[in-house]
Amino acid sequence: MSWMGLSLIGAERGEPGGPTFTGWNPAEGVALEPRFHAARPHEVERACSLAAEAAPSLAALSSRQRAVFLEHIAEALLAAEADFLAVTPKETGLPPARIQGELGRAAGQFRQFARLLEEGSWVDARIDHALPDRKPLPRADLRSMLRPVGPVAVFGASNFPLAFSVAGGDTASALAAGCPVVAKAHPAHPATSECAALAIRAAVVACGLHEGVFSLLFDAGTEVGAALVRHPAIRSVGFTGSRQGGQALMALAASRPLPIPVFAEMGSINPIFVLPEALAARPEAMADSLAASILQGAGQFCTSPGLVVAVEGPGFEAFRARLAEKLGAAAPAPMLTPNIAERFREGVGRLAARTDTRTCVRGESRAALGAAALFEAPATVVLAEHALTEEVFGSCAVLTPAKDAAELVRVALGLEGQLTATVLMDAGDTAVAAELFPVLTDRVGRVLVNGVPTGVEVCPAMVHGGPFPASSDGRFTAVGTGAIRRFVRPVCYQDVPDALLPAELRESNPLSLWRTVDGVLKRE
Ligand code: NAP
Repeated sequence: MSWMGLSLIGAERGEPGGPTFTGWNPAEGVALEPRFHAARPHEVERACSLAAEAAPSLAALSSRQRAVFLEHIAEALLAAEADFLAVTPKETGLPPARIQGELGRAAGQFRQFARLLEEGSWVDARIDHALPDRKPLPRADLRSMLRPVGPVAVFGASNFPLAFSVAGGDTASALAAGCPVVAKAHPAHPATSECAALAIRAAVVACGLHEGVFSLLFDAGTEVGAALVRHPAIRSVGFTGSRQGGQALMALAASRPLPIPVFAEMGSINPIFVLPEALAARPEAMADSLAASILQGAGQFCTSPGLVVAVEGPGFEAFRARLAEKLGAAAPAPMLTPNIAERFREGVGRLAARTDTRTCVRGESRAALGAAALFEAPATVVLAEHALTEEVFGSCAVLTPAKDAAELVRVALGLEGQLTATVLMDAGDTAVAAELFPVLTDRVGRVLVNGVPTGVEVCPAMVHGGPFPASSDGRFTAVGTGAIRRFVRPVCYQDVPDALLPAELRESNPLSLWRTVDGVLKRE
């Protein structure tokens, strides 16, 4: 397969003529062929208009018909494995095994949504029958269910070229909800984006759907992305990326004549709390698994740990020494893009320059290589200085000794919203953990015990989100089947004749859904 480097506007290709850019091979430090052409304003307009045209017919499909479409996408993605293996490792520096794993995950996400749609009860159908004899006033017949919001703009992240990008969770959940998607390709993996878009396009054709169900736009800067968010046809935005980027799009979306929500999944420092009994019992083992998590993927995971709070006492010195040894011994690793490498170097440099923070490990980060860094700062400083709890995207963590358990809980109380928090504990730590848990559940999307936060399972119970700034709206998850709720809204039908109701709400329950009927959950 060779790449055209042109946007995909419904069934047609964009045209050359706008600004161009190339992919980048981070392992070899060279630009890649071909040149990719940014979409021009009339192409953004056409992609959004087509999406608006496609929206009613996509919304009118039954859940089961949409499930078939998602299955086709999963198959088309898997069928393109050789193409992904030919381009994605070059564009990202990620090993082929990781790409294969991520492809399976991306296809698996579409399949998981297909199963949700096949069962169908996700629409949360509620029926309150009319009460004509109610006094003093009769009640009308009221029925509600979740309906798609309309076209969604999707911005993928650099660090998951498949599972969080063009064919990632945002696209899967928006299409599952019945919303057309206009995706903006991440410049860190443009050929991968084109390959994913062609797989989705093949499924659109195979299912005979309107061409506007899916489009892909390339952008050489931020103009196309901004025009996409501003376009009146777009009704919601899914974004995975930096806090800076997410907030820029949130501001843009809020300033439209018709404001729309931006579901932005942004950065996090994923704090680790090491409780005293566990620290005394197994300091080295905990340091080893934590170091491996910090180093995984050169720290380029939104769930990478960036703050480690441990109670000073037995085991602390051994824990600190082992963590520093493991991070110090790691070879600098290729980062995804020169920009990300530059931002990492700057972030590490800012921490190293502080007089209230001790540098424990700081390797030499050169060109596109990032070397792990570990800093140490007292809890009082971490509580007072916001800079110490800001994400440095890469293998970089701050170790914070807490004088006692009360100070450790105070650090937790001082944190802003996070994707995850991890508690490393033994049975003897239960009393401290019981104090810590309510503080953490108030601030994070996922609390975990005796594990590492890197590695996000795709399953119905997963919550990948968290209060701002981890995400723009902590009521939702970006991973797992719950992600579909970002792109739907409830609609109530009052006294609507049965023949005009969606099948989900008809009296005979033709789809055999679980529905809440007169306050009782039933399947009749
Ligand atoms: P990024 O720089 O924010 O870029 C994300 C996408 O948004 C890119 O396509 C980018 O285009 C676009 N963009 C950024 N600012 C924009 C603006 N003002 N207007 C229009 N478009 C804009 O993020 P990244 O470097 O790709 O990813 C790294 C970050 O993502 C880290 O902070 C990481 O923690 C976070 N992340 C979060 C999750 C999660 O699930 N929470 C998962 C993975 C990564 P350009 O590149 O062309 O500017």
